Amino acid sequence: RVKEEGKNNYQFFTKDMNEEVSRRSKIAIGLRKGLDRGEFTIHYQPQIDIKSGEIIGVEALVRWVHPHMGPISPGEFIPIAEETGTIIQLGEFVMRNACLQNKAWQDAGLPKFRVAINISSRQFSQTNLSDLVHSALTDSGLEPKYLELELTESIIQGSTSAVATMMELKAMGIHLSIDDFGTGYSSLSYLKLFPINTLKIDQYFTRNIHVDVKDAALVDTIIRMAHNLELNVIAEGVETNEQLDFLKERQCDQAQGYYFNRPLPAEDILRLYGDPAPAGV
Ligand code: C2E
Ligand code: MG
Ligand code: MG
Ligand code: MG
Repeated sequence: RVKEEGKNNYQFFTKDMNEEVSRRSKIAIGLRKGLDRGEFTIHYQPQIDIKSGEIIGVEALVRWVHPHMGPISPGEFIPIAEETGTIIQLGEFVMRNACLQNKAWQDAGLPKFRVAINISSRQFSQTNLSDLVHSALTDSGLEPKYLELELTESIIQGSTSAVATMMELKAMGIHLSIDDFGTGYSSLSYLKLFPINTLKIDQYFTRNIHVDVKDAALVDTIIRMAHNLELNVIAEGVETNEQLDFLKERQCDQAQGYYFNRPLPAEDILRLYGDPAPAGV
């Protein structure tokens, strides 16, 4: 009996593993095809100035609906794109389109705000990011100050020329932020070396600020540290009024999360922040 159960478990286990492997390889193949077939879109999530309530930026978040597998979250496909190298083309797609989109909103008369783009570590270390940024800005006509790059602590650790690259980008006039701040086990000394503008507090910390005293203490400390270093600080994953009140009290500069908006298609940003249609039309 024991042996039989063991055998069944073993078969069950390998079946799961096979399914996982085949899903991964389907995704890997699908990524390459999907780029050619135009299956990727970008959603944009507003970033709000806590004091004024105004929009100061949007984060570009890539979306993918696989023709057979349906919607796949970036949490699942971005790591696979990183591993297989497709992230380079995907990253270029996001960079070029997000810049074009932000310029289009400006031309449509929306208040001007930044578009923030997530940069993966492979994109940072294996391509000439300054060249891509330069070309995306030139082609779109977007001013550099309306572009922000979100870098993670792992990017910084994995690349010896990281400081030089960041200096180059900063010199172009674009905004640099550290995404998922506090989750990367890196030494804080990089904050002194790197020309960054903003720390993004990870949603993992934001989630429990009003119930967990330790998360509250961490967020409070991150905000104060950012301000002492003359950095801007934004909290991600803000879902409730209680969380927002906490952040407001501690003078956090900006917030982003479902409490304000989910990531939205470009047309919805236009409708939300564009001039209201004249009455009766
Ligand atoms: P991230 O850059 O930290 O983005 C924030 C994630 O939190 C997004 O998930 C967003 O939809 C989600 N989020 C926003 N507000 C809330 C909230 O109030 N509550 C909760 N629970 N979640 C919230 P998403 O779009 O699934 O993206 C996941 C991750 O995938 C991103 O994390 C980023 O690391 C990566 N990613 C997404 N788009 C791109 C891209 O174009 N390029 C690269 N390299 N990575 C991307
Ligand atoms: Mg991000
Ligand atoms: Mg983040
Ligand atoms: Mg994240």
